[in-house]
Amino acid sequence: MKLVLIGAPAAGKGTQAARLVKHYGIAHISTGDMLREEVAKGTELGNQAKSIMAAGGLVSDELIIAIVQERIKKDDCQKGFILDGFPRTVVQAEKLEEMVKLDKVVYINAPDEVMLERLTARQTCPKCGATYNKMFLPSKVEGICDVCGEKLTQRKDDTVEAGQKRIQTFHEQSEPLVGFYEKEGILFEVDGTMPIDEITKAIIAGLDA
Ligand code: AMP
Repeated sequence: MKLVLIGAPAAGKGTQAARLVKHYGIAHISTGDMLREEVAKGTELGNQAKSIMAAGGLVSDELIIAIVQERIKKDDCQKGFILDGFPRTVVQAEKLEEMVKLDKVVYINAPDEVMLERLTARQTCPKCGATYNKMFLPSKVEGICDVCGEKLTQRKDDTVEAGQKRIQTFHEQSEPLVGFYEKEGILFEVDGTMPIDEITKAIIAGLDA
């Protein structure tokens, strides 16, 4: 099963991707996570991406396409994968078409105000990558990861200012993908304002239909 998840920042892509990979036994490819790892390691790629990410912009198509092209060749992708955060532009989508035949594209849709509110309440575990939300999905002990006990942090781009820019970037550069995949007949849209479990159920029902 080869899937793409699209949606604005904090629409719930990462949360749903984590559940879907467990359900279908496929690989989770988050380009945002991959870039954050490069930034943390201080590689040349990470240094190139760092300021763009912090400001809420997009790294170049060329760079991100090369990363995905390598990633999907790995063994864990043979049974299928979920791309979370890629493609984000029509150029990336066109390139992806040359690489693989997708089964479905899930679009998690939610209004801007909801996403901005969620985004600024988001907390991430720097050690194991688990994500929480102070409003909707709090950790059991405030500020501490349920899974590994690490102190939770806020992403540098989860501020109001960077969040607004990321939502604007989504509308300008990524929203055209909805029409792109609708035309291909593989788009499945889900209401991202529903409770997390309901969204997962709706996606699985849509994918298995
Ligand atoms: P995410 O964790 O998916 O919200 O991604 C965090 C940031 O990484 C984005 O705001 C972009 O700066 C960068 N990024 C992730 N995926 C892509 C992509 N497909 N194209 C360009 N930039 C990306």
